[in-house]
Amino acid sequence: MSDKTPGFDTLAVHAGTEPDPATGARQIPIYQSTSYVFRDADHAARLFNLEEVGFIYSRLTNPTVNALANRVAALEGAAGGIACSSGHAAQIMALFPLMGPDCNVVSSSRLYGGTITQFSHTIRRFGWSATFVDTDDLDAVEAAIDENTRAIFCETIANPGGYVTDLDAMAKIADKAGLPLIVDNTTATPWLCRPIDHGATLVVHSATKYLTGNGTVTGGVVVDSGKFDWSASDKFPSLSQPEPAYHGLTFAALGEMAFTFHATAVGLRDLGMTLNPQAAHYSLMGIETLGLRMERHVANARAVAEWLEKRSGIEAVTYAGLESSPYYERSKAIVPKGAGALFTVALEGGYDACVKLVDSLKLFSHVANLGDTRSLIIHPASTTHRQLEAEQQMRAGAAPNVVRLSIGIEDVDDIIADLDQGLSAAGA
Ligand SMILES: *Cc1c(COP(=O)(O)O)cnc(C)c1O
Repeated sequence: MSDKTPGFDTLAVHAGTEPDPATGARQIPIYQSTSYVFRDADHAARLFNLEEVGFIYSRLTNPTVNALANRVAALEGAAGGIACSSGHAAQIMALFPLMGPDCNVVSSSRLYGGTITQFSHTIRRFGWSATFVDTDDLDAVEAAIDENTRAIFCETIANPGGYVTDLDAMAKIADKAGLPLIVDNTTATPWLCRPIDHGATLVVHSATKYLTGNGTVTGGVVVDSGKFDWSASDKFPSLSQPEPAYHGLTFAALGEMAFTFHATAVGLRDLGMTLNPQAAHYSLMGIETLGLRMERHVANARAVAEWLEKRSGIEAVTYAGLESSPYYERSKAIVPKGAGALFTVALEGGYDACVKLVDSLKLFSHVANLGDTRSLIIHPASTTHRQLEAEQQMRAGAAPNVVRLSIGIEDVDDIIADLDQGLSAAGA
């Protein structure tokens, strides 16, 4: 290759992998091995001291899993990262080195339903908490930060519907407060947006969605810009001070790899949210075609949203790529190639029409997933957002008369025809 930094699609195919040094295998093998033979006792000691990078035990590192983390890091413009067992695991893994008892994360109120639940209830068992704010109200975001805040969290294109976060404004607030901005980039993917270019420190992914792209894997990734100065305050002792959980090593001394090494040597070691190499292999294969798929996903989503907006029986289409969206201008700055392929539609017929539509579609699958090659539909109020209070449902964009569409890469005429017959069946 030339000296020029490779483009996105080149990195998607090549980054993180090279022909297998042992066999020359062109596709990275699935290293289905738990452990790795040390050359000698000194080599083993050097690996455990992090004086030499290598493989010890697959709960911490595995060549196939590392290749995935390194490929996503390359696509996101990050210094390093880790892959783990799910998107939800990635969120815990991102917070773990930063948080401690009584610490909080200031979080957007517009999030994937499962993340709202994880942040509202489950993280409290660790002594952590989340303060939810409307990220369009920048004063409220600033006001929510207190001396125990350790991170700000948001999604690029918020699930379930049509909301684009002003990442530059969020990064500015985080910078001013000396905090890392964590961005869940699952629904945008690095093809549409690289949050680090907008000032984010950590980027998390559910690799379950567009990265793998075909609904075969549950996986997650966290990548780090490598640019945050963990020693600038006393807020991040796990990184800036000798870490008692790793024989007193000061991870900040590892420079831009401080977070990545902590997340591996302490996070994966002790929390065990490890991805298996078979899953990493599927994700690597999926990412090879990420650019091609996203281009089609976005083109189809725009066409479907435009068609729906004119269809009778439709109250609203919340796709940020529509000129009618309040986030249209912002989407041009944050996701200039398109506003993703996930949006919500509000039906005039209310809750009952939504249920009827979901049951009448033939091409669309009614599933609790998104970012598949196949077109998917779900009614959040009766499923993914069911555990939330009515007020939380509204704030998350999941009112009872709303269905969420994840537009696939099929022929767009077939997608529209299916929606048309389904809406007719639903009385629209
Ligand atoms: C699916 C999803 C998650 C959770 O990921 P899992 O792989 O299901 O654990 C987190 N954030 C967003 C935006 C998602 O779509």
